Amino acid sequence: MPSVLVDQYQRPLRNLRLSVTDRCNLRCSYCMPEPEYVWLPRGDILQFEEIERLVDVFLDLGVDKVRLTGGEPLVRHDLPVLIAALARRPRVRDLAMTTNGVLLADQAQALADAGLHRVTVSLDTLRPDRFRDLTRADDLDRVLQGIAAAAPLFRGLKLDTVVIRGVNDDELDAMIEFGRSCGAEVRFIEYMDVGGATHWSLERVVPRTEMLERLAQRFGPVVPVDEASSAPADRYRLSDGTLFGIIASTTSPFCADCDRARLTADGMWYLCLYGTAGLDLRRALRRGADTEEMGSMIRSAWLSRRDRGAEERLALRDRAALIPVDTLRRDPHLEMHTRGG
Ligand code: SAM
Ligand code: SF4
Ligand code: SF4
Repeated sequence: MPSVLVDQYQRPLRNLRLSVTDRCNLRCSYCMPEPEYVWLPRGDILQFEEIERLVDVFLDLGVDKVRLTGGEPLVRHDLPVLIAALARRPRVRDLAMTTNGVLLADQAQALADAGLHRVTVSLDTLRPDRFRDLTRADDLDRVLQGIAAAAPLFRGLKLDTVVIRGVNDDELDAMIEFGRSCGAEVRFIEYMDVGGATHWSLERVVPRTEMLERLAQRFGPVVPVDEASSAPADRYRLSDGTLFGIIASTTSPFCADCDRARLTADGMWYLCLYGTAGLDLRRALRRGADTEEMGSMIRSAWLSRRDRGAEERLALRDRAALIPVDTLRRDPHLEMHTRGG
C-alpha cells in the first residue's frame, strides 16, 4: 500500500482529474462563451503512453480515483484504448468519465467493454431551444440517446446540471423527474466563477438553500442523506426515495476536504481549479525524468499545497468573473475547458 501523502491542511492526494483534450464539440455559455479560443498546440498533447506513465506515478503516491474529462473527452481519438490501459491497473479503484454526452450513444458500448466504471453526463436543460442557446449546438436528442445507451451499461449513472438563474432554474423538478425516468441521479451544480465563465455574476448563482426550498415546494420533504464522503455533492432524499445531489461549490465550498488535482491534456498539473500556476510534468517527462524524479516533483508540490481557491473567492466582497478574456487568451491553461471540471 502506498503511504498517504497529505498537503499542508492534511488533505490526501486521492483523486486525479485527467483532461484528455482541451477541444470540445459544444460551446456552453458558462464555460466557453467566446467566439474563438486559443488551443493547446497538438504536439504538446500527451500521448496515451505518456498519460499512463504519469498515472502510474500518481498511483504510487496514493491516487486511486481517476476521472477522464476535458474539453470533451469523447472527441479524443481512440479513447477506449486509454481506458482499457487504465482499467488494467488494479490500483485504479474508480475509473470515471464526465462527458457532455453528444458522442456517447456511439461509444457507450466500447467504453463499457474497455472497462470504464462510471459515467457522468452533463445536461443542463431538457428543452431543445434552450439547449441550443446554452451550447450553441442542436444536439439535445443526441445527448438523450447517449444517456439512454449508457444507463443500462453503467451502474450509478449521474447527470450534472449547472443551475443558472434566469436560464434553467425553472427546470429543477423536470430534471429530477427525468433522472428518475432513466435511473440516473441528478446533481445540481452552483454556477462557478472559474476561468472561462466570463459571463458569471453572483446574481446568476442559485444557492443550494434556494434549490432545496424550491424542490421541497414541489416534492415535499427533502431529507439530507447522512454519509461520510469526500465527494463534493451533498445528497438528499425525496419522500419517494429519489436521491439527488447538490454541489454547492460557490456558496459552500468543500476545499477543506479537497483531495483532487488536475492534469491538463498537455501535462500541466494544477492543485486547484482556481490555481494560476501548474507544474509542467510534460517537460519533465519529455526530457527523460524517471519515475522517481517525477514522483518527488509531485510529492513536494502536494506537500506544500495550501490551495483553497473557492473559499478565498467566497471571502471576497466584490466578486465578478475570475479572469479577463485577454488573460485567458494568453494562457489557455486557465480555462475550465483546459483543466477539466
Ligand atoms: N465536456 C465535458 C462535460 O461538459 O461534461 C467535461 C468537461 S466540463 C469542463 C466538466 C464539468 O464542468 C461539466 O459538468 C460542466 O457543466 C462543469 N462546468 C463548466 N463550467 C462551469 C461553471 N462555470 N460552473 C459550474 N460548472 C461548470
Ligand atoms: Fe460545455 Fe463541457 Fe464543452 Fe465546457 S467542456 S463547453 S462544459 S461540454
Ligand atoms: Fe479543491 Fe480548489 Fe475546488 Fe477548493 S477550489 S475544492 S481547493 S479544487
